[in-house]
Amino acid sequence: MKVESLDEGLLLALLNTTPTVAGEVTDRLADPEEAGAWIAEHAGEAHLGEDLALLRSTRDTLQALVHDQATPTALAPALHGVSYQPFISDTGISWRLATPREHILAARAIVAWDALRHTAPGRLRACENKDECTLFFVDHSKSNSARWCSMAGCGNRMKARRHYERRKNAPTIT
Ligand SMILES: [Zn+2]
Repeated sequence: MKVESLDEGLLLALLNTTPTVAGEVTDRLADPEEAGAWIAEHAGEAHLGEDLALLRSTRDTLQALVHDQATPTALAPALHGVSYQPFISDTGISWRLATPREHILAARAIVAWDALRHTAPGRLRACENKDECTLFFVDHSKSNSARWCSMAGCGNRMKARRHYERRKNAPTIT
């Protein structure tokens, strides 16, 4: 079965709506106005009717799943009424996700998460700079060894901190 587009971008954007800013975990979907701006930016204004509470709880579950702290059964509410519909033509069959209007984005994010589990197992991960960062990333590197949401940001900060720790713990030469 050919699944339409892999909504990896939407999934990552949703997982990353709780960034740590100045040491505090924030939530871009907490305020309805800010959440509306987020939806318009990432999915288009046609999706402003999305059920925000369900989108947030789906996000929380997906985040917990990445951290191995939930089971997929918790995703059931956002998959209620979701199905794939066949579109048949002379050249073949394509399948489209059919979902109630109020949880299109939540369902698309779940489908993307599930697709990633099969096509790229273990590559959706949380940034290892856990003290300062609550972002997620998909490791597309050949070696599958990425540890941070971004090398320029958290990668460099972690390296600098390790360097500092080493120097601090090194015996002083007199
Ligand atoms: Zn990070």
